[in-house]
Amino acid sequence: MTVAKRTPKYVAKARSLIESSANKPTVKRCNVLAVLLSTTKPLSAYELTDRYNKRYTESIIAASVYRILDWLTQAGVAYRLNILNKFIACQQRPSTQQLSIFIVCKNCQKTIQKRAPNTLVHPIYERVSEANYCDILPHIELTGVCEQCAHISHQKENVIE
Ligand SMILES: [Zn+2]
Repeated sequence: MTVAKRTPKYVAKARSLIESSANKPTVKRCNVLAVLLSTTKPLSAYELTDRYNKRYTESIIAASVYRILDWLTQAGVAYRLNILNKFIACQQRPSTQQLSIFIVCKNCQKTIQKRAPNTLVHPIYERVSEANYCDILPHIELTGVCEQCAHISHQKENVIE
């Protein structure tokens, strides 16, 4: 499933994930998550703040958004993409038994999340263990060109020729 194809079922799942956390979700936490879920493109805290304030009557400041993003990240329902320094909603809670791959379009930043196959996960964790690292964040970030951007690029090449 791609981030773009989120369904209300996933929204319910995400909310149940944060409700199962030690700290109960607030309306603002749920609203910040809803803003993250509404896009396939990762958002900075400031972009998220702008979208939040356009969508909801009760405004929020960026400092609060940062705190909520920390909370959502620790709850495993949001992820900070290091290559962009932006946030995106997760589809699966991180686990030491699984590995998520975030694939980011370097043109439009559309991002999808895929679960790595077990045949890939075990050798990676073995290497990490051999290197004596612990507390590994179970995410890998890759960049590429999405199908839509590749199609647009191909069309431009044909016009020039
Ligand atoms: Zn793209």
